[in-house]
Amino acid sequence: MTEIIDGNAVASTLREELTGCVETLAAADERPTLATVLMSEDPASETYVSMKQDDCEEVGIGARDVTLDADAPAEDLFEVVDDLNNDDDVNAILVQSPVPDHVDYREVLERIDPMKDVDAFHPENVGRLVAGYPRYKPCTPHGIQRLLAAADVDTEGKDAVVVGRSRIVGKPMVNLFIQDAPGGNATTTVCHSRTDDLAAKTREADIVVAAAGVPELVDGSMLEEGAVVIDVGINRVEAEDGDGTTLVGDVDFESAKEKASAITPVPGGVGPMTRAMLLYNTVKATSLQTDTAVEL
Ligand code: NDP
Repeated sequence: MTEIIDGNAVASTLREELTGCVETLAAADERPTLATVLMSEDPASETYVSMKQDDCEEVGIGARDVTLDADAPAEDLFEVVDDLNNDDDVNAILVQSPVPDHVDYREVLERIDPMKDVDAFHPENVGRLVAGYPRYKPCTPHGIQRLLAAADVDTEGKDAVVVGRSRIVGKPMVNLFIQDAPGGNATTTVCHSRTDDLAAKTREADIVVAAAGVPELVDGSMLEEGAVVIDVGINRVEAEDGDGTTLVGDVDFESAKEKASAITPVPGGVGPMTRAMLLYNTVKATSLQTDTAVEL
């Protein structure tokens, strides 16, 4: 029987735990606050930001919302980041990507105070992760570690294949899998668009993480019997019945389910965990900044 790993349920349990942590921090007069910065008229970005604010509200985290015109000068965004860095009432900063073309996103990331960098994209936080002593773990791969733990999947000694080498998913996933730490110690292969014979690699894997942004790239024929399959992809495609669009992952769920011992659905798998881990990092940031202990 294939286990469908329920990301909504795991995220919901985590949110309950985080609500308790937020209460502890609030009792010490240190209620966490996350500032989101939106510089885009993209409706998807607007939706992501408003979902993040709703998530904060649900667990009692304060939300600060800064919106800039998409055609404002880059300097305006840098000033906003500087102000939030210097604001003691703000514990966590997230600049929603993508930013407009005239803004250098790298410069934005490097400007955010690493202690408030809850995406964990600042080079200091990336460096700490690679060096093996992460301060914050990037939300999507950290959420995947939590999902695997919730499904009782021990990564130690397993062969893991990560499909995709992006800065936000593939690379940090590889780094977490190879850490000598719980959720790590996997023998890890990273694949990308230049990989010769992807199927030969995924067929060797006990754990496959698909994060390529290619609809249904990984199907059942590419999996070993009993593999654990984590589908990160979120792709909007035309619905099969021709009626509008639908969301699919990077895994062909139906054929993969026949081979997998456990698999995440899309939607309802990795997505809710990514959102919950942002709250986790915000709570952790507040705890670190205020020296108030919480059980994370
Ligand atoms: P990127 O486009 O930044 O990276 C995609 C990676 O996949 C690249 O490394 C690319 O290789 C590789 N790739 C592309 N095509 C193939 C192929 N045919 N075979 C093997 N590798 C391939 O994407 P992201 O990492 O940002 O996102 C990946 C997917 O995950 C997207 O669908 C995105 O929407 C989704 N996502 C979902 C999240 C969630 O919470 N569920 C969070 C973040 C992303 P190369 O480097 O050679 O170009």
